[in-house]
Amino acid sequence: MKKIFLFFIFTAAGFSAADLSAAGKTPSIFACEPEWAALATEIAGDRAKTYSATAAAQDAHYIQAKPGLMAKIRNSDIVICSGAELETGWLPLILRKAGSSKVQEGGENLIYAADYVETIEKPARIDRSEGDVHPEGNPHIHLNPYNMLKIADILTEKLSAADPGNAEFYSKSNKTFQKNFSAKIKEWEKKAAPLAGKNIITNHKNMSYLFSWLKIKTAGTLEPKPGIPATSKHLAGLKDMAKTEKIYAVVYAPFESPRAAKWLSRQTGIKYLMLPYTVGGNAQSKTLYGLYENSIDILLEAADK
Ligand SMILES: [Zn+2]
Repeated sequence: MKKIFLFFIFTAAGFSAADLSAAGKTPSIFACEPEWAALATEIAGDRAKTYSATAAAQDAHYIQAKPGLMAKIRNSDIVICSGAELETGWLPLILRKAGSSKVQEGGENLIYAADYVETIEKPARIDRSEGDVHPEGNPHIHLNPYNMLKIADILTEKLSAADPGNAEFYSKSNKTFQKNFSAKIKEWEKKAAPLAGKNIITNHKNMSYLFSWLKIKTAGTLEPKPGIPATSKHLAGLKDMAKTEKIYAVVYAPFESPRAAKWLSRQTGIKYLMLPYTVGGNAQSKTLYGLYENSIDILLEAADK
């Protein structure tokens, strides 16, 4: 009788085999990209171990499925990635090879952020001859800060389920994040208002969510097709376009070669800018907040150059 009574007390307190904190174990979060690691840190703080599979200087489309990544993913409790095929060249492989019982394709501890937001630039037809097209729409969703608010909720939910002992902590830090980040979004929108309606040329469409959020138009890409490097013929076309259309700037990410942007800039006088793209992309973008703040600052400063 006494035994049964104690059993009920423990279950009521939420003790279960899956309860990592009760088992004295710190949950591990495997983030495919630095922006998701930064978001996880906002929610979990030091209650979880967060690891980013890629650095800001790497293009998340093209990552080698190294054994170190397999070991990391095998020991993780939550995996958070962009999804929409961004990591299709390496993530499925390391998941399969890691053979983890906790995180697997289709499982609830694997979060594909793109599944929870509205993707943009969905191709009307899927034709791989058109380059590295993403059928589920543009996967680079993190540069719209509203998407971060949504994913913070999802991450909080999943993390709390995996580690119920800290659920209250996660929920509290998510509330703080939602409040502070929402207030910042309003500030950024006000600050970035002069950028609305400007035309930009981008290397690859990996910053489209930033531009569509700030009402900046993408007039062209340095890549003739997604994933295909700039050709002289294509660049000549952009140079011609710049004669009739007013282009504000040509932008590229830290992991992309600036060569084509510099060439076009020399030919046309259009400014070329490196935007941080993700957390750690430059010295000013060390946090999620810094990422949006600095991206807007760089774009605004181009007007005075
Ligand atoms: Zn892409």
